[in-house]
Amino acid sequence: MDRHYDVVIIGSGPGGEGAAMRLAKAGKRVAVVEAHPQIGGGCTHWGTIPSKTLRHSVRLLSEYRRHPLFEHTLSHMDVGYPELLREAHSVSTEQVRTRQRYYFRNQVDIIHGFASFEDANRVKVTRREYDSEFLSADHFVIATGSSPYRPEDVDFAHERIHDSDSILGLEATPRSVTLYGAGVIGCEYASIFANLDLKVTLINTRDRLMSFLDDEITDALGYHLRDQGVQIRHDETYSLIEADDDGVVLECQSGSQVRSDVLLWANGRSGNTKGMGLEAIGVAVNHRGQIEVDETLTTALPGIHAVGDVIGPPGLASASYDQGRFVGGVIADGNNRWSLVKDVPTGIFTSPEISSVGKTEHELTTQGVPYEVGRAEFKNIARAQITGHRVGMLKLLFHRETLEILGIHCFGEQAAEILHIGQAIMSQSGEANTIRYFAETTFNYPTMAEAYRVAALNGLNRLF
Ligand SMILES: Cc1cc2nc3c(=O)[nH]c(=O)nc-3n(C[C@H](O)[C@H](O)[C@H](O)COP(=O)(O)OP(=O)(O)OC[C@H]3O[C@@H](n4cnc5c(N)ncnc54)[C@H](O)[C@@H]3O)c2cc1C
Repeated sequence: MDRHYDVVIIGSGPGGEGAAMRLAKAGKRVAVVEAHPQIGGGCTHWGTIPSKTLRHSVRLLSEYRRHPLFEHTLSHMDVGYPELLREAHSVSTEQVRTRQRYYFRNQVDIIHGFASFEDANRVKVTRREYDSEFLSADHFVIATGSSPYRPEDVDFAHERIHDSDSILGLEATPRSVTLYGAGVIGCEYASIFANLDLKVTLINTRDRLMSFLDDEITDALGYHLRDQGVQIRHDETYSLIEADDDGVVLECQSGSQVRSDVLLWANGRSGNTKGMGLEAIGVAVNHRGQIEVDETLTTALPGIHAVGDVIGPPGLASASYDQGRFVGGVIADGNNRWSLVKDVPTGIFTSPEISSVGKTEHELTTQGVPYEVGRAEFKNIARAQITGHRVGMLKLLFHRETLEILGIHCFGEQAAEILHIGQAIMSQSGEANTIRYFAETTFNYPTMAEAYRVAALNGLNRLF
């Protein structure tokens, strides 16, 4: 007989977890189905957590190696990519334990296996060929995440060709790496490998790095990546990728060729919907495997909802978790008292780190909004001088007449943390969301938060 729940959630990443916790608190009987042997989702096992831990360890190593105090000790330390990866895996394990406790305390059942729909009220959970069970529910939340897109003419079975999942299993430190795709994942890994002193080539299929960012920020990123030795090639498309025992060759349509020890493919992701029987029950899936939902994150079937990477952009752990909580509210209360944040902040963990929220200069110009800019260079901030992290800038975009904050763009050490100060003020209503707040408040000193006052005063000075 089927086990029945109020809600069955498919996937235990941030999207699934956010929904499960919200629904459990509302007193619903909830089960989470997870195909991976451990909970936590791609976020914990092959996305955010391992890549950020790896990046942290590589930066520590790189800072020590460059510090005059340690030049005679650490230069002899044999720390390579596999050793750094081990630390990344240990944090993932800690995350699994933490999240397991949340599910246990909130009495959410975890059922391991691959879920596929039999009809709109029933899923089959398959563990092995002859080991399966059926679950029925009033509502389903699909939070199955996404996977790297793998074109058929690239041989991912070869040990020298990787995507962002398999790069976490690389067993030796290469001397050179080619990254194909200069989006967030490609740029973050370019920074990681550059900090490991590898020869790095970043192939961008577009004419700018991450064109959704403010131009000044992408210019700075390009400058600093090149300064770290990364060779960037814009507007290139591969025609052939071929690996042998000696290396990988990437040939571009322009005729250029790059040879390296390893290639990391970082160009596109697809929603994890294959084999779930969605089309058969009337849930629309697009050519990227993404599920179509309305503003309440509900599919064409009223009892089936979807959240996180599987519904497409922004494809962030942060946004996925919020969507999960939001849809939990939709199911529990019938409607939702709060709406999803429209201005989702972006945190990009390159070297230098980048973070932004709101409009870019390009968007404001195109929309004909009268705006002004206030800037603070980190090199002039006392805290940055003390810590030695002088590379960076905070830029505030605000309305010339109302002084309303329209966009915040930051790069440099701790940019992703610094941004949240401005985001909090920007999200206030009425006159509380103007740059006047930064000019008139008292900041701890010396802190990086002081950059907000410097930028606000700089902006106000341009007006008068
Ligand atoms: C290299 C990399 C770095 C990243 N860095 C960041 C970052 O710094 N900040 C950030 O906010 N985001 C980052 N992201 C994105 C972030 O990891 C994703 O946005 C987030 O994991 C999506 O959450 P989710 O809940 O939608 O899916 P996931 O976390 O992918 O979880 C989906 C789960 O569903 C399971 N599943 C799939 N199909 C089925 C099925 N049919 N039955 C049962 N279970 C199933 C999977 O096994 C998986 O465990 C990064 C991603 C990558 C790849």
